[in-house]
Amino acid sequence: MSGFNSDANNQLILALSKGRIFEDTLPLLEAAGITVTENPDTSRKLILATNDPNVRVLIVRATDVPTYVQHGAADFGVAGKDVLIEHGGEGLYQPVDLNIAQCRMSVAVKSGFDYEAAVRQGARLRVATKFTTTAREHFASKGVHVDLIKLYGSMELAPLVGLSDAIVDLVSTGSTLRANNLVEVEEIMQISSRLVVNQAALKLKRARLQPIIEAFERASKARA
Ligand code: ADP
Ligand code: MG
Repeated sequence: MSGFNSDANNQLILALSKGRIFEDTLPLLEAAGITVTENPDTSRKLILATNDPNVRVLIVRATDVPTYVQHGAADFGVAGKDVLIEHGGEGLYQPVDLNIAQCRMSVAVKSGFDYEAAVRQGARLRVATKFTTTAREHFASKGVHVDLIKLYGSMELAPLVGLSDAIVDLVSTGSTLRANNLVEVEEIMQISSRLVVNQAALKLKRARLQPIIEAFERASKARA
C-alpha cells in the first residue's frame, strides 16, 4: 500500500555534475551523513551509490541539472547561478546558496581592443557566449547594442579568430584568459552554486529532504 511513509518517498536522487561541483558537494554530503561510494572519474556509471541505499547520485552535464530536478527525475541537485539564470528556475525551489564553485561572470576582449571606447561610441558589439540570457540582460541594461553568438564551449577562441569582439564567460583566476591574450574588462556578477529541490519532492519527501537541506545550510555557512 502506498502512503505517507511508502518506500518511494524514502528514495532520494541527487543530480550533480562532474568536476568542481561534485568535489565541492562531497563535504556537504558528508555533513548530512552521506558518503558517495563510487568515483565518477574512474567509473563509467552515471548512477552512483552512496552509503545510504536510499540515496543515489546522478552524474549529468552541469547545464542539465536544473532540467532533471524540474521534471522530478532527480529530487534535488546542485547548480551554478549561471546555469540557473539560463534555465529560468521553473519548478525549482532554491533554498540555499552553498557558496561553492565560486567565480564571476565577466566580459573579456582581446588584448588591445578598446572596449570602453567601443561602448562610448555606441558601436554594435559582437559577443560570443554560452550565457545568452545573462549577456542580453547585461548589455540591454547598459544600453549597448549587441549581436549575440551562441557557443557551447571554448569561448576564449572567438575574439582571437574574429568571430566576436567580446566574450561573456566565467572567470576565477584569470589564467585561461591570460593564456589566450584576453583581458577582463567588466564583471557582470558573482557566481556560486545553489541547492535546487524539486517542488513536488519537497512536499512528498520533506521528512527525508529537510534534514539534508539543513545540514547543507550549516556546512555551507561554516565555509562562507
Ligand atoms: P561545463 O564544462 O559542463 O560547462 P564546468 O565544470 O566548466 O561545466 O562548470 C560547471 C559549473 O561550475 C558552472 O556552471 C559554474 O557555476 C562553475 N564554474 C565554472 N567555471 C568555474 C571556475 N573557473 N571557478 C569556479 N566555478 C566555476
Ligand atoms: Mg568548463
